[in-house]
Amino acid sequence: MLLQNKVALVTGASRGIGRAIALEMGRHGASVVVNYASSQGPAQEVVEELQQMGVKAIALQADVASSEECSALVQKSLDHFGQVDILVNNAGITRDGLLMRMKEEDFDAVINTNLKSAFLMSKAVVRPMMKSGGGRIINVSSVVGQMGNAGQANYVASKAGVIGMTKSIAREVAPKNILVNAVAPGFIESDMTAGLKDSVRQTMLSHIPLGSFGSPEDVAGAVIYLSSELSKYVTGQVVAVNGGMYM
Ligand code: NAD
Repeated sequence: MLLQNKVALVTGASRGIGRAIALEMGRHGASVVVNYASSQGPAQEVVEELQQMGVKAIALQADVASSEECSALVQKSLDHFGQVDILVNNAGITRDGLLMRMKEEDFDAVINTNLKSAFLMSKAVVRPMMKSGGGRIINVSSVVGQMGNAGQANYVASKAGVIGMTKSIAREVAPKNILVNAVAPGFIESDMTAGLKDSVRQTMLSHIPLGSFGSPEDVAGAVIYLSSELSKYVTGQVVAVNGGMYM
């Protein structure tokens, strides 16, 4: 139980990595806000799973690419739980395409959902965290944010941006006892990667020394570490969860 009496807000938490993070937060004693974009059913199932563990949880709808909806999400979380100690900026999308075929709206949508959202959510939680004496912000980047990837100029720009923003905000808010870090998952089994061709999967597998793809729970473990007192001297860092890819 590393997170007793803490409140965690996880964006995009109704499935995949976000869902695993929300459940692991609950297992470690935190109360959890399960944010979802549009479909309430799966988010409510996560809430019920948490409640069955005896954990307090609520599902809150918000499109994290919208400034107003980010503010409302944080305010509703505060109204319900009185504090937000941990923010996990997990929500993300891909809209892949080679440069000459990538539409401007695909670039904007990915940047707004993956990068601007982390800016908006961080802005919304920092003041309440300062009032309650500190907090943790964990941003979900990606291995490709450090390496680049053909066909993902928009996604890679967003995930590299997340790393730069993590380091900048970490410097700004360190005096307020708010620690800001990122995790950079490698290839994780989720809906986001389910559609990849077998040939691509085999090529990626050949670059992973640990010999398998990761699970959402593998990422959740690193996020719990960064949310807990175990990492109280760690800020502005990127924790890679990638089976040893690109050491
Ligand atoms: P996923 O598609 O299963 O989950 C993404 C979640 O984000 C979904 O629940 C979706 O509804 C939510 N979301 C999307 N847009 C949103 C919005 N505007 N507002 C609120 N919620 C929104 O994918 P995943 O693999 O679980 O990805 C989670 C995070 O991990 C993403 O940021 C992704 O870029 C990152 N990541 C994934 C991998 C991987 O291999 N799966 C690798 C590196 C990084």
